[in-house]
Amino acid sequence: MHALSSIGRNDIEFSRRIPPTLRIEALNNIEFTCHMCGLGPGEIDSATGRRSRLRVGYLIDKSLGGKDNPSNLWAACSICIQGSKNITSEKPTARWLLLQIRRAGQEEQREVLKWLLKKFKN
Ligand SMILES: [Zn+2]
Repeated sequence: MHALSSIGRNDIEFSRRIPPTLRIEALNNIEFTCHMCGLGPGEIDSATGRRSRLRVGYLIDKSLGGKDNPSNLWAACSICIQGSKNITSEKPTARWLLLQIRRAGQEEQREVLKWLLKKFKN
């Protein structure tokens, strides 16, 4: 777990649409890491040597029924967003996704299941 004091003030940037109360709640409850490469805020990317800066946005947009809740937030690092790692241009394979899901905790697996059931319910 990263101590929050070791993270620079500018290492996490929230979408302007996220209200301040939710930002504070999220910072107190979530250890943010890039959902694409796993870097934490302020960590150095070994491939590019650059310091990661996380951008936090809604996982499900509020206009689509997403909630103002820390579990509805998503983070990606500046390096992935800019495509420097070439991760975002390629879609993950089913095999890779299943591997990630198998490694995840039961709570996360249930979240994935809930999301898939909701997405494919018709
Ligand atoms: Zn990243």
